[in-house]
Amino acid sequence: QKYKGMSEEVKDDNPYSRLMALKRMGVVQNYEKIRDCSVLVVGVGGVGSVLAEMLTRCGLGKLIIYDYDKVELANMNRLFYTPQQVGLSKVDAAKGTLQSINPEITIEAYNMNITTNSGFEHLLDRIKKGGKNGERINLVVSCVDNYAARMAINTGCNELDQIWFESGVSEDAMSAHIQIMIPGETACFACATPLAVVESNEHTIKREGVCAASLPTTMGITAGFLAQNALKFLLDFGDLAFVLAYNAKADFFTNYMIKPNSECKENECRKRQAEKAVNKQENILERLEQ
Ligand code: ATP
Ligand code: ZN
Repeated sequence: QKYKGMSEEVKDDNPYSRLMALKRMGVVQNYEKIRDCSVLVVGVGGVGSVLAEMLTRCGLGKLIIYDYDKVELANMNRLFYTPQQVGLSKVDAAKGTLQSINPEITIEAYNMNITTNSGFEHLLDRIKKGGKNGERINLVVSCVDNYAARMAINTGCNELDQIWFESGVSEDAMSAHIQIMIPGETACFACATPLAVVESNEHTIKREGVCAASLPTTMGITAGFLAQNALKFLLDFGDLAFVLAYNAKADFFTNYMIKPNSECKENECRKRQAEKAVNKQENILERLEQ
């Protein structure tokens, strides 16, 4: 069953009618724009699957998902996947659920490792042409759990000058962060690697008998912050979080911005920094001339 029309006179049984209130109440200028927006999510595990579900329920136009893993019974301590999906690839299981929640969304699902040569090339191609009408994707979100995959996304997004969100939950589930990366304008993942990731990455090099705590609460909170900032970015309201860090024991949040590192080891990051500095200079000159 298709949901008809997202115009002003939305029917009460339309799941979007309540979202459209955001427009009537003056929060968002044009909520319908969400239907033309596209988001690419790498990793549909504990955080990425919930983010994908939130965006789907918000009426996103198109979603591209990557993951190389299968649904396991051990994932039931998280949200989203069900025991009936055990054995399916995460991307196929996710696509099925998301498509039934919102029949109007377009979903591309890739059971792929983005750190292999072919996987990485595939990812770059989808960022460039994965939008609703073959244009560039609007936003990339990283919900992976390891350093190599984050570095691959970082390199690709620096190269393509693509805005992306990074996220992470610590192994003991007591801290989490999201970070908004604007190439050349904010620190990239190689400019300054968040402490939480460095810590959790040490543990990602599998240790015998150690298992991630994976609380659905911390993962759900993190997915919520990612989705909220994705909406703010796509629909242009409020302020973006930049680095939003969460301490679960203290229920304490910090929010700050990290400037890019002029000595970043990523060549493409330094190139973006130089370009943006020129743009800034030009903008200032333009304003002075007016
Ligand atoms: P845990 O690490 O807690 O045992 P997990 O592996 O499911 O569980 P999550 O943090 O829930 O980890 O999700 C991260 C997701 O990112 C996983 O589904 C994983 O398969 C995916 N992922 C990680 N690296 C890559 C990669 N290189 N390419 C594609 N997907 C990846
Ligand atoms: Zn950098």
